[in-house]
Amino acid sequence: MKISLRRSLPFSVVLALVLACAAEPAGDVQQTADHLVGSILTGPSMNTLHELADGFGPRVSGSPSYEHAAEWAADRFRSYGIQNVRLEAFTLPNGWQRGWAQGEMTSPVERPLHVASLGWSPSTQQGGVQGDVIVIGDLSADSIKAQAAQIKDHIVLFDAAKAFADGYRKVLPLLRPAYGLLRDEGALAVLFPDREKDNVLNAHAAGYHATLGPLPVVQTGMEDAQMMLRLLQEPKGRVTVKLEVQNATSGTTQVHNVVAEIRGREHPDEWILIGAHLDSWDFGTGAQDNGTGSAMVLEAARAIASLAQPPRRSIRFALWGGEEEGILGSLAYTQAHRAELDKCVAVLNTDNGAGHPRGWKVEGRKDLKAAMEPISESLLKGLSGDDLSMDVTYDTDHGPFLLQGIPALDLEVDMAHYMEIHHKSSDTFDKVDPLNFKADAAIVAVTAWAVAQDPQPISAHIDHAAVGEIIRKAGLEDFLKELGVWNP
Ligand SMILES: [Zn+2]
Repeated sequence: MKISLRRSLPFSVVLALVLACAAEPAGDVQQTADHLVGSILTGPSMNTLHELADGFGPRVSGSPSYEHAAEWAADRFRSYGIQNVRLEAFTLPNGWQRGWAQGEMTSPVERPLHVASLGWSPSTQQGGVQGDVIVIGDLSADSIKAQAAQIKDHIVLFDAAKAFADGYRKVLPLLRPAYGLLRDEGALAVLFPDREKDNVLNAHAAGYHATLGPLPVVQTGMEDAQMMLRLLQEPKGRVTVKLEVQNATSGTTQVHNVVAEIRGREHPDEWILIGAHLDSWDFGTGAQDNGTGSAMVLEAARAIASLAQPPRRSIRFALWGGEEEGILGSLAYTQAHRAELDKCVAVLNTDNGAGHPRGWKVEGRKDLKAAMEPISESLLKGLSGDDLSMDVTYDTDHGPFLLQGIPALDLEVDMAHYMEIHHKSSDTFDKVDPLNFKADAAIVAVTAWAVAQDPQPISAHIDHAAVGEIIRKAGLEDFLKELGVWNP
């Protein structure tokens, strides 16, 4: 492994180093942090978030509201005096927008069902489909083929307890092929039971990478699904369901990432990047997934742009599209900017809501953890929990940079209340705690500034083999291969 354990120096020593290299008096270093934190605590972050979440509403990748929000964000960066602002396009295989969904049990009792299309689910035929329900708990190809005779002209209900017993991530690679097989065997539609009580629905996609699913897949409230399962377990149990869903689809659709840059004063070709995804699901308004992250990036840009002088290295600010469909915008960026990734010193991502700040995830890198300790010592220690967590995930936009061996950090916050609203209709502005949100934004800004200002790169890039080791240890290899983003 090409990992340098460069520092484990106390913050005072690092400060002295910074001072020696920069010939800046100690007071100025502290003053810069004070300025950034003060600017964010007293600044317009809640207004910015309100404009984004309530002004544009949900921002599904490729939708007009996403593109309008991207243009608004670009204007915001320019209004902070940042010169280099660009909208950078990437392409979705399919655009998709939710229309409406209606479902009812027609027999043995009549009652409406809590349903919504999974993202990128196609429509049913006009007038909908009606059929007997068959339960499938094993999504393997062999099992589906063995039940082919019963599947034809039926509506398939996944038995969540059996189908997802090994965890959702393990089942993910089976889902997309299963939908295709079910369509081939003549299934009319799939009922996908949600995992949360009160028939609450959580938005997610029917496939990866914004490709249209092979047949209509409809999320179904947990209690509704359990009632159907009970009825079907009765002797001669039979359940009939009627479903109609209508969604709008377009072919290949361009989506724009928003990228702004403050050029560094000493090493402008070296850059760090602060990013968050601007797109959202559409049940709520994406206020914390990921309006708050987007607003943190905007706030960090505003506060850093207001400093008397820029940091040594350049800072790029990125708002991504396509995250909810498979982390597509940041992945496209790493592909389009491959030639200059060796000059990317670090990536800071924020996409876990705006709960009480905890620290940064260092994504399995001991060297990065050691390098972050001086910053953590003054900024993060004692917040709550582990200020520099070794957890490794490929669940948001630090992921594509992590795969390139770039030091990638993901902001960690208390997520207890976040999971109550994540991907639900309750992800709205009123759930945001202003003080936690501002503290999170301040940590993003000060960390970014400290990393961009450091005389040395925060940590080395690691090679493909070293990245592979981190991924294998985290049990992510199969998942990333199935996603098509990792070649061992
Ligand atoms: Zn998110």
